[in-house]
Amino acid sequence: MNNSNLFWVFILALWPWASCFSQQETIETVRGPIEVSALGFSLTHEHVMSNFGKPQGSTSVYDEESLFKQVLPYLKRLKSLGVDAIFDCTTAYFGRRIDLLKKISEQTDINIITNTGFYGGANDKYIPQLAYRKQAAEIAEIWINEFENGIEGTSVRPGFIKLAFDSGTPSEIDLKLFEAGVLTHLKTGLTLAVHTGENIEAAKSEMHLLEKNNVHPSAWVWVHANKVTEDKPLLDAAKKGVWISLDGVNETNYKNYAQRIQNFKKKQLLNQLLLSHDGNGFPAGGTIRSFDAIVKFLIPELIALGFTPKEIDLLTKENPQKAFLPSIKLIRDKN
Ligand SMILES: [Zn+2]
Repeated sequence: MNNSNLFWVFILALWPWASCFSQQETIETVRGPIEVSALGFSLTHEHVMSNFGKPQGSTSVYDEESLFKQVLPYLKRLKSLGVDAIFDCTTAYFGRRIDLLKKISEQTDINIITNTGFYGGANDKYIPQLAYRKQAAEIAEIWINEFENGIEGTSVRPGFIKLAFDSGTPSEIDLKLFEAGVLTHLKTGLTLAVHTGENIEAAKSEMHLLEKNNVHPSAWVWVHANKVTEDKPLLDAAKKGVWISLDGVNETNYKNYAQRIQNFKKKQLLNQLLLSHDGNGFPAGGTIRSFDAIVKFLIPELIALGFTPKEIDLLTKENPQKAFLPSIKLIRDKN
């Protein structure tokens, strides 16, 4: 065998390893996959736009001219303030529009990560009828198909799973959707971002269902965890590996957030926190619910409290990368 043949034998032997490695290190954006390490400064729970509040049948319709006029300059300004990526939490049936997100991302150069899943909050207003008829595994098939083949005939694939619980004892449908989400995770490695808020009972059900399916708590983001008034349940969950999303930052409450983040720092749990605003660039055509308070107010406040640049990077760059890197997270190997 000459040297050139040897070279090719070597390359072919490495190929499966190389492709396996690259699969694990990329995340899907609306402009295609990127290296997770290229995400940069990320806001993990925002809405570029949504039609929340409108009837389910009309949520995919936007006044596109007004939308672009409002959202494009706003996102360009965010980009100039240092925001590189936005996880868009608007699901199908309340306003997800892949084609519009793609245009907005292209024109602002902000990476936008879209989602698969159905939104079980808002008293189930945005759950499609088909979800009631189908089994969890059949619903999971729809979401897995979006990941494997693209969303709505496009080549855009979701970067995470978005779900939600209503308040009170978890309903059958919300639990079924969560189970479908767990099955989707087991096939795709996508992280589950679940609107749970102050609903501790829902949080417990989620933990239980993850465990029942042998899925590690780090596959789950406790969305709107800031609504839990006591730190203890959040610190306990963080210790188990759950991602705690403090995602309601604005220009009036950022000092409370800074205090709360300090409490996580004291317990050495900064590595489980995600920060965002739950902002909205075009809420049912209305005025912007801002998502710039983290860069403008919270980070300067954290620096004033003695947070190091490394800790700020952990909160705004490293944690989002780790939380959303697609990988199937099991509690233990079952062999
Ligand atoms: Zn939201």
